[in-house]
Amino acid sequence: MSPAVTPRSAGSAAPARAVTPATFSSPTAPAGYAWEATSEEVAARYGVRIEDVRRFDLNTSPAPPALAARVLATARFDVPLSEYPPSDYRRLVTAAGAAYGCGRDEVIVGAGADEILDLCAKAFLSPGRRAVVPGPTYPMYRILTEQRGADVVSVPRRGPSEGYAIDVSAVRAAARTADVVWLCDPNNPTGRREPDGVIPTLLEALIGDAAGEARRAPTIVLDEAYAEFVGRSHLALRTAYPRLVVVRTLSKAYALAGLRVGFGIATPELIAELAPYRPPGSVSVPSIGVAAAALADGVGMQANVAAVSAERTRLADALDALGWTAVPSVTNFVLVRLGSPERAAAAAEALLSRGLVPRTFGARHPLAAFLRLTVRTAADDDLLLDAARAFEAGAGEER
Ligand code: PMP
Repeated sequence: MSPAVTPRSAGSAAPARAVTPATFSSPTAPAGYAWEATSEEVAARYGVRIEDVRRFDLNTSPAPPALAARVLATARFDVPLSEYPPSDYRRLVTAAGAAYGCGRDEVIVGAGADEILDLCAKAFLSPGRRAVVPGPTYPMYRILTEQRGADVVSVPRRGPSEGYAIDVSAVRAAARTADVVWLCDPNNPTGRREPDGVIPTLLEALIGDAAGEARRAPTIVLDEAYAEFVGRSHLALRTAYPRLVVVRTLSKAYALAGLRVGFGIATPELIAELAPYRPPGSVSVPSIGVAAAALADGVGMQANVAAVSAERTRLADALDALGWTAVPSVTNFVLVRLGSPERAAAAAEALLSRGLVPRTFGARHPLAAFLRLTVRTAADDDLLLDAARAFEAGAGEER
């Protein structure tokens, strides 16, 4: 799933609050988390046609690779659809090993990066344990920690002038008593990557601290969902830091979010710690077939990254020109500053009234004055820009 949620758990300090105006929770559902509104719900609430709804809130790519349709059309998969997928996902694991440059025993498969994150929470967190979350970041780290009954230790990131980088000394201090440290690089929702050297330095320091105190170092879950957009991975650090799990996905640069395929990559020993928590068949037979082909097509993925990155520059420049100040992004989304939480909320409503769904942040979130916008096709982005211009023109008239 994707991240916009409404926390309603009993132990949560945050009150029930829609993270985006388009996030609806059912009054009859049990206490828990409400995921973002479906396109049907958005269409109904804003009185637009379903075909006019555009998702700028999910950080997916504009279109799947052509090979997906080809593989599905052949319908020649590992096994017939009447059968379960091979429980070792051998073909997918082999393809992932080749794409990421690691051994088959260093890969664990999940239904999207989200399932890998969930496995990490199940394996390493339980009541009384602690997890460090440098925020603002992907909300699932906090949610998964809370779901396990463990405690979230929030560590604020540095400010915008420092690219929202993690505060290494603060994370290091918090990690002394933590079992898990959730890291995200490039980070969602800020769209920035850590400066070179920061993550290796942090991991080295954590190993040193643990050795000095004769305890086990915390598990680092490093979510690299957007790594292909920067062409950098910290995968190689797993040898020096054996408690590192790197998380990858086909949902972003590979443009295959609907397949639900993600990977955890770690030393064989750490994979063995995660493996007992893995369901035997959460990735479907067709997903395995398409995903294995996509992983073998690095050129296709790179072409998507190049196209999305070029369109990101165009979109960010145009938004900037309107006064929607874009945080320089290295990913497939752009964080824009609207000046105040009220203005951000009004801009979100203006977009939603045209069926354009932004990611918003709750009023008490540090990014309350921002919207996060996924880079889509030039045509869709033009609809967004038209709506933003109309909003600014209207706002100007009111002044
Ligand atoms: N991690 C991050 C940082 C994300 O932004 C997302 C999706 N928005 C995910 C994980 C989940 O990805 P997947 O579709 O692979 O479950």
